[in-house]
Amino acid sequence: MSANDLKSGELIRLSSRVSRIIAPNPSAMTGPGTNTYLVGDRDIAVIDPGPDDESHIQAIIDAIPVGARIRWVLVTHAHYDHSQAAVVLAERTGAKMLGPKPLQDHFEDSTFQPQHEVKHDEVLRLGECAIRAIHTPGHIGNHFCYLIEEDQLLLTGDHIMSGSTVVIVPPSGDMKDYLASLELLRSYPLRQLGPGHGDVMDNPLDVVQGIIDHRLRREEKVLKAMQQLRRATLDELTPVVYDDVPLAMHPIAQLSLLAHLIKLERESILRQIEDSWHL
Ligand SMILES: [Zn+2]
Repeated sequence: MSANDLKSGELIRLSSRVSRIIAPNPSAMTGPGTNTYLVGDRDIAVIDPGPDDESHIQAIIDAIPVGARIRWVLVTHAHYDHSQAAVVLAERTGAKMLGPKPLQDHFEDSTFQPQHEVKHDEVLRLGECAIRAIHTPGHIGNHFCYLIEEDQLLLTGDHIMSGSTVVIVPPSGDMKDYLASLELLRSYPLRQLGPGHGDVMDNPLDVVQGIIDHRLRREEKVLKAMQQLRRATLDELTPVVYDDVPLAMHPIAQLSLLAHLIKLERESILRQIEDSWHL
């Protein structure tokens, strides 16, 4: 599939039971836009309904075949670009909202209030189709991936994106959790990854290993910088550790850097004293 196919508003069929519509919210953070997945045939689960955008909500409703209904609106996590349309869609269609409850930090969408909180390894049955919820903390603490078991397709939300690196958002986001949640995916039979942003990816285990390697290389860079500087603030470290990332992305990269520093502090390698980090 070429990048030209990553246009918002079009219904793209990925398998006999899964299709995708991209929301019209492209940006540096969201890539081509948020992917909304429709799973099932008569009873349909909408996974990550996306932002509260009228054209997108209408595109989702228009994609439901005659005789079918949206039974569940399911979210991977309560970030606005994934969950904001949930309450609108549920009100209009009578669907039930499912997913993790948002945390009360200023990053999460408190309009998303699930009627059912999914649990780790819970299997949701939708006619012939089984959707397994997999708890994958890291990006934030209450993040879930959903495995469409018949297709061995894992819908990854913001745990894994195509084409860019996921931001780890402390305090609930956690680098150690993130790496463990990547490792966890090895224990499931996966054929493809359907990310929250970007196109479907083949060879899931290679993708997962690539991300782990990338994170560990970044951690190496943090350690190297600290060995030179001995002590540094977050602002001082960012340009050194992210010298390969455009300046405009540094405020966002700083969240992931903080997550690296917290991980290293927990491993007793670094110590934070007021605003600065010490080796
Ligand atoms: Zn997110």
